[in-house]
Amino acid sequence: LNPEKGGLSAADKEFENNIRPSHLNDFAGQPQVIENLRIFIKAAKIRGEALDHVLFHGPPGLGKTTLSRIVAHELGVNIKETSGPVIEKAGDLAGLLTSLEPHDVLFIDEIHRLSTVVEEYLYAAMEDYRIDIMIDSGPNARSIQLSLNPFTLIGATTRSGLLSAPLLSRFAIKSRLEYYSAATLHKIIHRSAGILGVEISDEAVTEVARRSRATPRIANGLLRRVRDFAQVLNDGEIDLGITQHALRALNVDEHGLDDMDNRILSTIIDKFKGGPVGITTIATAVGEEPGTLEEVYEPFLIQEGFIQRTPRGREVTRKAYEHLGKTFNPGGNT
Ligand code: ADP
Repeated sequence: LNPEKGGLSAADKEFENNIRPSHLNDFAGQPQVIENLRIFIKAAKIRGEALDHVLFHGPPGLGKTTLSRIVAHELGVNIKETSGPVIEKAGDLAGLLTSLEPHDVLFIDEIHRLSTVVEEYLYAAMEDYRIDIMIDSGPNARSIQLSLNPFTLIGATTRSGLLSAPLLSRFAIKSRLEYYSAATLHKIIHRSAGILGVEISDEAVTEVARRSRATPRIANGLLRRVRDFAQVLNDGEIDLGITQHALRALNVDEHGLDDMDNRILSTIIDKFKGGPVGITTIATAVGEEPGTLEEVYEPFLIQEGFIQRTPRGREVTRKAYEHLGKTFNPGGNT
């Protein structure tokens, strides 16, 4: 299980695939990203060329995989999907690249986890649609050049900070996905409920949206769990009462924060008197990598006003103390 995917089970994954929008028009939110993609896709089609390489970056569950499939669909081409850690050798990459038809999409999830060797092979493939591979070894070793069909590489990453400058520079289109507004999540939950064929009141949708960490993957997951409670306890009808009951039973946080979010906040309060404290120090205390903290967890906590960045480090806000039921006492003894 990949923790970045929230430890999804097979059933969860199947559901995710069933519920994925397949056209740009069905993809809610991220208006700037969508508008640009529309233009680039149209232009590539008019010119009869492969779309330029695309990088989607941003926290998990915001739609990077979904958008990649949509792009392939809108281009009218096939998509081959893989992920950074799966491509172990240059030969694996060569196999994938040579199997692409003209203008196809190669999707590499978690592209920050490509090995350096594989990454270096990717450069020529991205730039000139060719790949040099070594055959044989010792005195017979020689390199042969394979030319590839023009293709589009779509990379997805939660950790763009880990990408090397040469790799980054080869993506002409870089789009950062942002957390979703309550109104957009509302739309997404309604659409998912429609696909699931469940009745859900507006208030219930609002409640699920509010507690989903501004993330469609979490919203869809909660909707499914709430549906279970409604089917067993409420004749299938999802109203505010059953929703709140279910979310309480599932220990879903009032603001939709997850365990790590809460651990970060309580660590800063309990161990560092509310801050300011450096990101590396917090990371060590919670047992996470500083980069993951910075790129995956912190953006949401800052956006929601639980943490602020100061020149001397991170500080929790009054909202964080109140959320955790602690007395607001910055810098004081706890
Ligand atoms: P990521 O690749 O960024 O981790 P995914 O593309 O796998 O995220 O999306 C996770 C789930 O959330 C999928 O089931 C997808 O259908 C849903 N989803 C994400 N963004 C949207 C959106 N804008 N509109 C509708 N559903 C979305």
